[in-house]
Amino acid sequence: MIKGAVQRLNSREKPVNSIQRFLATAACAGAVISLAAAVQSEPAKPAPDMALTRLDCGTPQPPVAVNQRFSDTYAYGDLKLQFVYSCYLIKHGDDYMLWDTGHSMTAPNVAPKVSIVDQIAKLNVKPDQIKFVGISHYHADHTGQVASFPKATVLIGKGDWDAISAPKPGPGVNFQPFEAWIKGESKVEPLALDKDVFGDGSVIVIRTPGHTPGHSSALVKLKSGSYILVGDAIHFRENYNTDGVPAFNYDRAQTVASIERIKKIAANMKATVIIQHDARDIAKLPAYPAAAK
Ligand SMILES: [Zn+2]
Repeated sequence: MIKGAVQRLNSREKPVNSIQRFLATAACAGAVISLAAAVQSEPAKPAPDMALTRLDCGTPQPPVAVNQRFSDTYAYGDLKLQFVYSCYLIKHGDDYMLWDTGHSMTAPNVAPKVSIVDQIAKLNVKPDQIKFVGISHYHADHTGQVASFPKATVLIGKGDWDAISAPKPGPGVNFQPFEAWIKGESKVEPLALDKDVFGDGSVIVIRTPGHTPGHSSALVKLKSGSYILVGDAIHFRENYNTDGVPAFNYDRAQTVASIERIKKIAANMKATVIIQHDARDIAKLPAYPAAAK
């Protein structure tokens, strides 16, 4: 009797299962069809209008011997170089991002001739339109004018933010201009990993630690090609070519690994590496106020 009941159940079950299977298949097919329709009906988002402009963010000083300070292996002999100070405006549709903020306008000798606010004004951009300020690292020649952009979200490597927001910031950590962000009046996003800034892969803040604990670089993909803005992961061309490490860097092994990462990204993406302090790299972008697009 029990056996018979089981058999009957089984015999009844079969058609139900078939119907379920059919319904499930139909539902899947329906989902695929409606998904296909959705893909077809949604207009393709136009790629945002992008541009990359170099800003002059400090006054160069006479050339300096780089052997001792900028190589921990005494690699550069009598080489003397003049350092320049660069920051960058990145346009992404209606949004803007600054990469580094140069020297402050009150820095002795090295202060820029024209502030970032005045330089971007000539490009018809107001400070409030700067949505993000990406900071390569906490040194004074990269952070001097950040306080001019309190509406911006600061994107900075976590290691550097921890140093800036520490109760007693260490030497060389230019924490003062970040007062509004430290107090929580302005927004900061300390980055433990790479950050796809606009969510479309066009601007990526990449981790390149070593010069400082949270040092970052920026990968900017334009129609005309990709660029890597390297902060101080690399100080000058010879430094890049020989994997040179400045004696004052935070971590030697991290620095070498970051230079390797930059070289590989540059090779794989055919990206142009822009060394922000190297005068010979200024011409890799159109001269201000013109921009690469
Ligand atoms: Zn530095």
